[in-house]
Amino acid sequence: MAELRREPVTRMWVVVTNDHPKGPMDYLPFKPPYQPQEAKDPCPFCPGNEGMTPPPTFSLSRQERDWSVRVIPNKFPFFHIEGDFDRRPNGMYDLMEAIGAHEIVVESPEHHQGLATMEPKQIEKILLAYQERLIDLEKDQRFEQFLILKNHPGIFNRHPHSHIMAMPVIPKRIDEEIWGTLDYYQRKERCIFCDIVKEEISMKKRVILETVHFLIFSPFASRYPFEAWIVPKVHSPDFHRITQEEMADLSIGIQSLFHSFLKLLSDPPYSLTFHTSPIQSRFHRPEYHWHIETRLRIGLREGFEWGTGFFVNPTPPEDAAHFLRESG
Ligand SMILES: [Zn+2]
Ligand SMILES: [Zn+2]
Ligand SMILES: [Zn+2]
Repeated sequence: MAELRREPVTRMWVVVTNDHPKGPMDYLPFKPPYQPQEAKDPCPFCPGNEGMTPPPTFSLSRQERDWSVRVIPNKFPFFHIEGDFDRRPNGMYDLMEAIGAHEIVVESPEHHQGLATMEPKQIEKILLAYQERLIDLEKDQRFEQFLILKNHPGIFNRHPHSHIMAMPVIPKRIDEEIWGTLDYYQRKERCIFCDIVKEEISMKKRVILETVHFLIFSPFASRYPFEAWIVPKVHSPDFHRITQEEMADLSIGIQSLFHSFLKLLSDPPYSLTFHTSPIQSRFHRPEYHWHIETRLRIGLREGFEWGTGFFVNPTPPEDAAHFLRESG
């Protein structure tokens, strides 16, 4: 039987099929959706090639060429830092300039690395770079929303990197989560994410890992096989207000989760994103609860999702959590 499960925050329906639940072996061997070309040209993110990129906006380094994490403006940004919005009609349609910031975090000097193989200390440095950049970008009143996004392997370059974006609008997915959070808050005077964390800890079966400050679990209505959420146990709307102690704890959790993916599914392609409250006092939502969502890019059924707006997941989250817990 398949089950229709409703994701409680956005109330989106997901079809979870469990007639023939798929375990890790069913996804092996991989046929990745794409393989980045191993470039013939030198990698602009490797040490020694710093001149190929714009000057860094942030760098953790002892000397110019001896860095551990570097943040640089994206040469091909989705959002441009200079200019005006120039919001205008185009017939019945709305149009504006994509003003914002789009920076690349070069996560390691080593070309062949991933979150699964890095030391937690290195992941902590990446988190620190995110935090420092967000605190700086928050000063720009034009931006409403931050988004941190990572693809592994990267689409154009295999060197480990992630994207920081500051946007002039709130993306639909976060907007939906905010509405769900506010609606729940009005009815129950509690945060829905705080309640989910408590529920998952008491039910145990979808928990992958619990650290001092974070819960890592397969969400009840997982859209993707082996989808995982990392949620702080104490309520906080903003990722960039994270403490140093929480950051160290989070980096251990991230390393452990991605190491489990590596062991179980032999270095699967993945994406992760940070969802955090909109910024600036006029948009900020203290009721929102920041978190990280991760998904593996395996077993996708884009056509069905495209046609219906809901997802089909052949690996029930209880099974996924079990496999990941056991491999950890
Ligand atoms: Zn490189
Ligand atoms: Zn909360
Ligand atoms: Zn989210």
